[in-house]
Amino acid sequence: MKKETVKERIEFLRTLLNEANYDYYVLAQSKLTDQEFDKYLRELEVLELENPEFDSPNSPTKKVGGEVIDRFKKVKHKIPMLSLPDVFSLEEIEDFNKRVLKENVEPIYVCEYKIDGLSVSLHYEKGQLVYAATRGDGVVGEDITHNVKTIKSVPLVLKKPIDIEVRGEIYMEKKVLEEINEKRKQEKLPLLQNVRNAAAGSIRQLDSKVAAERKLNTWIYHLPNPEDYGLKTHEEALKFMSDLGLKVNTHANRVVYGIHEIESYIEEIASKRSELPYEIDGVVIKVNALKAQKELGFTSKYPKWAVAYKFPAEEVLTKLLGIEFTVGRTGRITPNAVLEPVIVMGSTVKRATLHNEDYVLSKELKIGDIVSIRKAGDVIPEVVEAKKNRRVGDEENFVMICTCPICGSVLEKKKDQVDHYCMNRSCPARKIEGLIHFCSRKAMNIDGLGIEIMEDFFNLGFVKTITDIYHLDEHKKDLIELEGYGTKSVDNLLSAIEDSKHNSLERLIFGLGIGGIGDKTALMLVKKFQNIDNMISASFEDYKNIKDIGAILASNLFDYFQDVDHLQLIHDLKELGLNMKYLGESSKENELITGRKFVLTGALSFIDRDRLSEIIDSYGGVTSTSVSKKTDVVIVGENPGSKYEKAKELKIEIWEEAYIKEILIGLGEL
Ligand code: AMP
Ligand code: ZN
Repeated sequence: MKKETVKERIEFLRTLLNEANYDYYVLAQSKLTDQEFDKYLRELEVLELENPEFDSPNSPTKKVGGEVIDRFKKVKHKIPMLSLPDVFSLEEIEDFNKRVLKENVEPIYVCEYKIDGLSVSLHYEKGQLVYAATRGDGVVGEDITHNVKTIKSVPLVLKKPIDIEVRGEIYMEKKVLEEINEKRKQEKLPLLQNVRNAAAGSIRQLDSKVAAERKLNTWIYHLPNPEDYGLKTHEEALKFMSDLGLKVNTHANRVVYGIHEIESYIEEIASKRSELPYEIDGVVIKVNALKAQKELGFTSKYPKWAVAYKFPAEEVLTKLLGIEFTVGRTGRITPNAVLEPVIVMGSTVKRATLHNEDYVLSKELKIGDIVSIRKAGDVIPEVVEAKKNRRVGDEENFVMICTCPICGSVLEKKKDQVDHYCMNRSCPARKIEGLIHFCSRKAMNIDGLGIEIMEDFFNLGFVKTITDIYHLDEHKKDLIELEGYGTKSVDNLLSAIEDSKHNSLERLIFGLGIGGIGDKTALMLVKKFQNIDNMISASFEDYKNIKDIGAILASNLFDYFQDVDHLQLIHDLKELGLNMKYLGESSKENELITGRKFVLTGALSFIDRDRLSEIIDSYGGVTSTSVSKKTDVVIVGENPGSKYEKAKELKIEIWEEAYIKEILIGLGEL
């Protein structure tokens, strides 16, 4: 073949194969069959080998990799590659919208998927890919050209011979990660943790053959200097880049108007998320008009014209290291997952409750499994499932214990119940839990005697029984010397203990931990019996005749007050000066509000929200706008918002309209 003809043939093949790559990897449709593609590619490879003078760095043959570098060169970004400000709630998006409106900018946005990968900057000169760089610290990145060339959806040659820098995300599809891990498992190699790390790891390979095997992909979403191309909106910039042959997520990106359309986009995407072939961790919202973007400007770290809304973390993978058992105050045994620590939504998770034997069995958990953990907001972490395809064979089966891990007594499981119990009443574990319960907020409300301190005091021998709590003042000197304890906190603790003596009786009844008696039942009982002596002398029938008290509760109550140890305890507490009477309604209502945190949601028919906040305030309560673990009560009116859902999820006390009304009437406020 004549040299001229060879050159023409090479150019013909390159164009043909570049177009085929574009059709297949960007448009997801192909004109060539796989066999045809391979045939032409091989022909091109041979021609290039035989005619090295026609070699080109951007030949489609480079897509298979082969270039090996010995280190990563540093590249300074002409325009810094900034990150985006993260937001986690719709309220924060509203704030962003408000900031935009304040600048008199029309609230027209482009919503995009926030792809979970790593960002990349691609540089083309005269339409030819010249180099590609990672973000690095935003100012200086690393040259990863050799690997980026192997990414099938990155065009080596654009459709127009222009100079341009574009930016986007390099990512790995979920399926690809699974395939790679399947193979690595067989080769006994450590598995890749998630798509983001896998993509980042792949792009930092010195040998581009390795990167090529990782089947990376791209979405392009940013043009740093759109004005140079006469563009007016981000939407136009996206179209412009797409027309150049770059892979732009045209189906996902959407121009929206105002906050409501942003919200519906997010809702829609959140529900589609798991079906996507790639991971997204949120939605990016960008002001559309480029002029407006300019006006809004940048902080040192972020553009002010965009935010990244992050979905609540769906699932985080970690290893189940073991299952440990704890004993509750009623003797109930709970298996707990001990996890390799992982950060979920900003906090480290090391343990999660597994409730009971049946729960563990139903999830088919094995020790050593890779499990997924979920934790939405500040909800308690939960083990979602075991990743069975990640098993390597040395995982161990879960076996339920049959003796108490603390005292060694044989556990009992009642018929038709799921829980195992340690029946030993003097089991130390049960005792500690009982003491903690006694001091808890809804019981005697002794601030400063939480789980850890109580465990310490128990182990040091200061508090073995409930009465010991009221003798703690005798150990004042020892307490002050204890690590982390100053005079002041000891004084506070002792006065909290002293104060608790004046509590109304229902707190004591609840605090004693009589089987099945919650705080509401305790209150109902003391209203009926008024003082503890009446409760001690009540018969089984007396209890059973009370509405809402069935045979089990009645016998629990009756038996409790027959037991000599319990009678001794009550006697001692009386001697120590504890109040044994019901102190009445009005104090009770006051208490319901004082010192507690409230969140209001929905509309109340009989009072407006501001007035209610004022009242709460005047009784020493606090109102705030968002529900968190710290919230004590959520007051729910008509058409409540997401706060109601969250309150239910967090198991926060919920007051309906009728209930708050009753309290306000009781307080004389209505
Ligand atoms: P983060 O650093 O996680 O707070 O979020 C910023 C990063 O999101 C950027 O640096 C990009 O790598 C990435 N990202 C993913 N999708 C997009 C998108 N559509 N637009 C802008 N950035 C995106
Ligand atoms: Zn025990």
